[in-house]
Amino acid sequence: MRKKIVAGNWKMNLLDMEVINYLVDFNSKKNEIKSDAEVIILPATIYLDTMISMPEWDVKIGAQNCSQFNNGAYTGEMSAAMLSDFDYDKENLHYCLVGHSERRAYFKETNDVFAEKVNRLIENKLKPIYCCGEELTDRKDEKHFSLVKSQIEEGLFHLKEEEIKQVVIAYEPVWAIGTGETASSEQAQEMHAYIRTILTEKYGAETADSISILYGGSCKPDNAKELFSQPDIDGGLIGGASLVVDSFIQIINSF
Ligand code: PEP
Repeated sequence: MRKKIVAGNWKMNLLDMEVINYLVDFNSKKNEIKSDAEVIILPATIYLDTMISMPEWDVKIGAQNCSQFNNGAYTGEMSAAMLSDFDYDKENLHYCLVGHSERRAYFKETNDVFAEKVNRLIENKLKPIYCCGEELTDRKDEKHFSLVKSQIEEGLFHLKEEEIKQVVIAYEPVWAIGTGETASSEQAQEMHAYIRTILTEKYGAETADSISILYGGSCKPDNAKELFSQPDIDGGLIGGASLVVDSFIQIINSF
């Protein structure tokens, strides 16, 4: 059975008091959560400490980024070893995003950089949430399958079978991120099934069937249920709607 996951990517949002208010509000409503999906929140780095120190907190925590390098003179960077060490006695910081389209677009990071980040995370026993997805022009040119294939091959296919099982994949069509434009459930399912096919060709059906593939891109309370009911959609990576406790809980309850 694949894990169902709902992950909230807060991006560069919320100030300290807003984070505290969110956590208090979320905790007061956690009895409303009826789903057995794993819930992950990916706050800005500066709030990781607050998040992992939350008492009675079932939510898993993830970072939004890490360096491709081990350590050394890389000003402003944070290593996977630091992330892993930081949480050594609490064990709820499990994940880190890699390959988000905003890293690709604004920071010019490439698949080979992401492959190194994935390596650093796995070496440090953290699970990468590896994002892939096409731009609108790729889809219009019918290049969306080949583009996503190359993102997955170049970022992940150097991994051994045991290693790829640590990865969660998030398909996020760039044209649907933060735009209010969602991929239809058919479009999303089609791509998720395709991703599972290429995973099967490379690693075999048992491994491919064990990897959770999340959908991301304007996923909201009113479309999550239909998306999550698709056979190859194992949850969501949620941006904007994860910043509001009630909508995030409604999305979690869409399973
Ligand atoms: C994201 O950036 O990962 C994302 C899915 O954003 P949104 O839900 O706001 O489209």
